[in-house]
Parts: sequence; C-alpha cells; structure tokens
Amino acid sequence: MTSTIVLRNARLIDGIADQPRERVSVVIKGERITAITNDDGPSGPGVEVIDCAGKTIMPGLIDTHVHSTLVSDIDLSLFLATGVTTARDVGGRLDKVLTLRERLNKGEVLGPRLFVCGPLLDGGHKTFPKGAFGEILDTVPTVGDAPGKINSLIDAGVDGIKLYFGMTPDIMEACLNTVDKRVPVTGHIGATTALEAVNLGIDGLEHMWISPYNNICPVEMRFGLELSMMSSKFPKVTFKGWEEADLQGPGTQQLFDVMAEKQVKMGTTLDLLWVDNIGIEAALEDTDRIYIPQSGLEHQRALAKVTKVGKEWDVHTGYPPGNGKKALEKQKEAVRILHEKGGVIVGGTDCCGIAYPPPGFALWREAELLADAIGDMAALKAITASAASALRKEDELGSIAPGRYADILILGKDPSKDVRNLRSLETVFRGGVAHDPNALLAAYPARDFDNMG
Ligand SMILES: [Zn+2]
Repeated sequence: MTSTIVLRNARLIDGIADQPRERVSVVIKGERITAITNDDGPSGPGVEVIDCAGKTIMPGLIDTHVHSTLVSDIDLSLFLATGVTTARDVGGRLDKVLTLRERLNKGEVLGPRLFVCGPLLDGGHKTFPKGAFGEILDTVPTVGDAPGKINSLIDAGVDGIKLYFGMTPDIMEACLNTVDKRVPVTGHIGATTALEAVNLGIDGLEHMWISPYNNICPVEMRFGLELSMMSSKFPKVTFKGWEEADLQGPGTQQLFDVMAEKQVKMGTTLDLLWVDNIGIEAALEDTDRIYIPQSGLEHQRALAKVTKVGKEWDVHTGYPPGNGKKALEKQKEAVRILHEKGGVIVGGTDCCGIAYPPPGFALWREAELLADAIGDMAALKAITASAASALRKEDELGSIAPGRYADILILGKDPSKDVRNLRSLETVFRGGVAHDPNALLAAYPARDFDNMG
C-alpha cells in the first residue's frame, strides 16, 4: 500500500511564485506530490502527518554542474545531506557515468537523481592528458565526425550534451544540427564565442567566468586557443579582462539580449571564486572543509607540491588568493544584468571537479553569491525551478505542485529572507523518502577540523 504523508501547516516556497505562501499543507503519496491545500490536509489511518508549523518547505535543490564520477560513492551522500536532490553531470566517462546514474536512480547509492551528458566534447584532433581529467574528455575531430559521435551518445541514453572549450564554430554547428533539440546542449566554450554558440542554437552556457568572456572583455584581451584553461596564466589574464570589461558596452548587451530572447540557460558557477570572495583566512575557518572528498584532497596535495603552499593547501586555488575578487564582483554584476533582461540564471558549481567548496555545500555557496547579485528569492529559483528547466524537467522537478516528484526540503528558517538559512535544513525528501541530513553527515568520513594537516 502506498502510504500518504502530509506536511502540515508550513510556509511554502514552491519554486514558482515570487512570494512564500503561509499555512499550506503538502500531500505526498509514494514518490509524488498529489495535492497542495490551504487547510490541514487529509488525516486518519495510513496518513503520516508531519507538523511543519513555523517551518519552511521548498523544492529539493538542483546542481546543474557536477562531475560525479571524480568522487567516491560516499561523497555523493553529501548532496542529499545538503538538500541537493538532483544533479547534472556535465563531464564524465560515458560508461562510468551511465552506470552511476543507474545505481543512484535505483537507490543502490545514496545521493541525488543524476542526469548525465557523457564526456566533455572538444573539437579537432586532440591528445588528452592522462589521469582523471583526460578520462572525461572526448573530441569531435571534424565536421564529418559530428553525426557519428553525437548519435552514439544519444543512443547510449545521455540526458544532454556538453560541448567544450576548443570546439570551433563549424564543428559546433554540425553537433547542434545533429542533436536537433533531442536533448539540451550546454557548453563550456572558448574557441566559439557565446554569441556565436547562442546563434547556432545552443541551449545553455557554463561558467559566467569563461563562456561569455570573449564577448564581454575588451576586444584586445580575448583569449584564443593558445591560452589553455589549464595554463597558470588563464586566471590572471581573464581576471584582468573581467576587471576592464564594460558591462554596458555593446558586446555584453548584445549577448545578453539574445540570451534572454532565446531563453538560453546561464549556468553560473560563481563558486569557482569562493576563496577569492572570502579570503584564505576565512576559508581556513570554514568548517565545510572537513567534507572535501578524498579525491579532491589528493588533487590538492599534488597542487600544493607545485604552489608550495602551507596550511591552506586543501583550499588553495593554485593562483594568489584573492586575485579574482574584483573579477567576481563584475561577474555578479553580469548575472544581475542578464537577470534583469529576463535571462535564465541557473546555479551550478563544478563540485567534485573542484575540491572546495565540497559537494552540496558548493551549491549553498553558489546561492549566497547569486543572492548578492539578484536577491534571495531569485537565487533560490536559480537552484530549483530554473535549474529544472535546464534539464527540461520543469514538469517533474524543481517546484512543489501536484504531479511533481516529492523532492522536498523542510527547513527551520526561511531561506527566502536569507539564503544562508538553507543551512537550517531539517529533513530531505527524495521521491517521497525522508532522509535526515545530520545523520548523513554523521555517517560521512569527515576530517577532524583541529587536525587538517
Ligand atoms: Zn565542469
């Protein structure tokens, strides 16, 4: 028998309305929401009532930019522990990420619903680095290779396609034409500008820092293929380009006008500059550090050998801390301008690809940065309903309405007043199944905060 759960008398942030509603009850049957009422809802035998007086409920969070195969199974529980009930993997080895999706969606691994893109698709004849990053890359060598590569991914069952930095406009056009809107396509791009990609019909762009950069920075500061993202010069060059960018200028305005018109999703990943935002001393005080996954720590240890940093080794970004702060302020401003034009802002984090902030906690940080730019409620939409639209799952996920999956958070404090209240998370429902975030965190092999060497 399918049991009924009633979340009674809550403040409701449904992911759609601009204001919370008071004294609302939400009825869950099995894995779905069946009703929303303005009274106490059903009661009686077979009905479990959870009194939510004084509490706020909202949709489970969605992180649209993760690299889930780069961490271990146990690390994926951090998503649920922070209320992230859905994640999109935007770069993973195809067989690994398909298997992980199946195990997560069957409940064999505790974590979010997973949507996958398969590998990062670069363009041209590429040789890839060895190791974890090389493993998640693939390439479309020529225009003629696009149909074979794209169709094989779609036939394998990917939920989306992710295009990468070195892909030139001719190959990108061939890829987009082959996809023909069957699945959403997003891009972390460089050799093709954002404006070109948007005009070719791409559905989303990743990283406010990177994908729109060549349309936003001064013309003489554009990066070309010779400036690899992996280069130590990349942050320095692009931070200066952002600092000097004219956000009222024609490059930015034209791009954002077209993005708004075509409703292209802007995946922000502002959290890549979280350490720049708060400074290294505050990062060292951040207790979220204890949840950095083992694979992230290994990566940071290798980085520390090159950068020769001390106690901040686990959060260090590889360039002088704080260098990106002004650039981040400009990126927030760009988010605000796009939002005000009616563009679609989508929160993603790159977590599991970056060590810090850790999975789940990274989306909380992203929400804080987005709230600075566009306000608390709009920031919450960016990590719920708008994020669902980037997956083309807005009728299933990201909002609280009859028929949607019962992916629901119960919070002690109202995050529409301050997104930092996401930390008052008390219960996480994924598909109608309740999880206790504190129990999940207690079961995680976290580091000892006083002994982080
Ligand atoms: Zn990424």
